Amino acid sequence: MTSEDKVLFEVRDNIGIITLNRVKQRNAQDLDLLKQLDATWTRAAEDKQVKVIVLKANGPHFSAGHDITDQAMDQVTCIDWDKEPVADLYAYEAEHFLGYCTKWRNVPKPTIAAVHGACIAAGLMLIWPCDLIIAADNARFSDPVVAMGIGGVEYHAHTWEFGARKAKEILFTSSFIDAPTAEQLGMVNKVVPLDDLDAEVMAMAEAIAQKPAFGLAMAKRAVNRTQDIQGYQNSLEAVFDMHQLGHGNCIAATGKPIFAYLDEMKKVTKDGGKS
Ligand code: ZN
Repeated sequence: MTSEDKVLFEVRDNIGIITLNRVKQRNAQDLDLLKQLDATWTRAAEDKQVKVIVLKANGPHFSAGHDITDQAMDQVTCIDWDKEPVADLYAYEAEHFLGYCTKWRNVPKPTIAAVHGACIAAGLMLIWPCDLIIAADNARFSDPVVAMGIGGVEYHAHTWEFGARKAKEILFTSSFIDAPTAEQLGMVNKVVPLDDLDAEVMAMAEAIAQKPAFGLAMAKRAVNRTQDIQGYQNSLEAVFDMHQLGHGNCIAATGKPIFAYLDEMKKVTKDGGKS
């Protein structure tokens, strides 16, 4: 961990609680936060005291997505924009975006995301790898990356989470879906009042933690393996390459990896999405 803890971790009654803590930036993910988060997932996975892992967020919003401000991008020193930026970006995103998400999905313990407020673009990449998602009634979800000239975020679970038609609608329109709609589509397990979110999530985690750890691990593996046999992981890896083609197109046209830094994301990052 660095002196600034962008991710917090505690263990309570066999439950490992990971908390995003970059509140001022609405938990926008810079490289530093992602590295801290991955290290925390690893710690929770390896800690024998931890039987269930909860991922939650401090502040008014779960996550504004990737931090693509100039200051955040300065951390990403492995991309040489004057030489082969497409190749460098591909390697960077394969490791820190698709790679991390895949690793978190396969942690052999039940995981629960507790989501409130806005969860935008790469915010979805933090919750989709989790086994269960419990949403506060003020939660709303969006992937507006198409408006930046790319087909969607790096972890293309949209079609699996929403079904083909809704996935297309959400991608084409950059619209938000609210928590009840997300529940109806099967993207979230349960919607609860915001004030009850912590208690509801902890109650579910405590109930799961009573079960034998190996039974839980095998139940999780059974569902994930079934999805993988249906093509889940292969499809995500195939679409990741299309995402990189989108970056390549933007770089060829403008010299930058995206066409536009969206106003919606700026608003959530700067004023909590009130406007
Ligand atoms: Zn990307």
